[in-house]
Amino acid sequence: MAGIVVIAEALNGTLNEVSLELLSKGRELATSLGQPLIAVLAGEGLDALAPPLQSADRVVLLDDPALGKFTPDAHEQAIAAVIAPMEPRLVMIGNTTAGMDLAAGLAARLHWPLAAYCTGVRMEASDLIGVAQLYGGKLFAEVELGSQSVIISVIPGSFPAVAPGGTGVIERAAVPAGKSRTRFKELIALEAADVDIKKAQALVSVGRGIGGPENLDIVQDLARAIGAEVAASRPVVDSGWLPKARQVGKSGLTVKPKLYFAVGISGAPEHLQGMKDAEFIVAVNTDAAAPIFEVAHLGIVADALEFVPALTERVRAGA
Ligand code: FAD
Repeated sequence: MAGIVVIAEALNGTLNEVSLELLSKGRELATSLGQPLIAVLAGEGLDALAPPLQSADRVVLLDDPALGKFTPDAHEQAIAAVIAPMEPRLVMIGNTTAGMDLAAGLAARLHWPLAAYCTGVRMEASDLIGVAQLYGGKLFAEVELGSQSVIISVIPGSFPAVAPGGTGVIERAAVPAGKSRTRFKELIALEAADVDIKKAQALVSVGRGIGGPENLDIVQDLARAIGAEVAASRPVVDSGWLPKARQVGKSGLTVKPKLYFAVGISGAPEHLQGMKDAEFIVAVNTDAAAPIFEVAHLGIVADALEFVPALTERVRAGA
């Protein structure tokens, strides 16, 4: 078994950031093992997407109209045909909506084991150990990945991204004519994000404890006063108070800001999954037993509707 393979992902002509995150970890492992790092990208019209992946030693493009729109079986067939003969030690895939399908399909097709929902992978002597998240982040399992070819799917945001570019060799592989049992019908795009909360240094995140959309002003005011962006828990987004692009957590985004200010958020595992690695967490909650206090560096038991405006006033007054 030789080589670390990263399956890169792109949508509508844009690379998913997780591809660069996997390449950074892939490079670390490939260097430890003294083996090559190979990026594989499937799609159509890939010329402009290959150069950012060139931190890999080889960038293998599967460029074909049949792969223009993602369907799990067409992508599986094409990717399996190119990676099976490589017999890589490790295949890394983003644990994204498409990546989850692809990783499971490749594992079944190639009879290679899969460790899904990984947040880490490391070498221990000559063994590869994966860290996989279970029960929405309540438990983490260390998985011995064995010495055969193995696939892991990695939760986006788990590793820092490598800078795009490099000198790796770009190759085009033949796409075998296959028959797809699934048909792409329509892409329902996420509404355009007005802000990328993953890049914010400070977030004021609002939960159901705020009561209703009429009270959002108080968190927006605090965010403005401290130079933060506003984020939210899922119920706030599901209720339509804030857009989906602001949601933090398992079915939202993973963020690691310097400051995460949680207002009226209980701290359910699915929420913690997306923010527990923030550098400094402040929580305001009326319930002293709320689980958010288990991860908070500073906990304030108070009514957010009173505390947050008072704090904003003090910040503005420079106190
Ligand atoms: P609640 O749990 O209702 O908490 C509200 C909190 O506000 C309480 O702790 C309460 O004490 C406090 N409070 C009430 N009034 C005040 C006040 N006046 N001042 C201060 N505090 C007050 N959730 C996410 O957030 N992100 C996800 O991505 C996500 N993905 C999910 C995926 C799946 C598959 C599932 C099953 C669930 C997911 N959830 C997610 C939902 C998650 O389980 C919780 O239901 C959710 O996080 C709760 O949001 P909350 O803390 O805002 O609301």
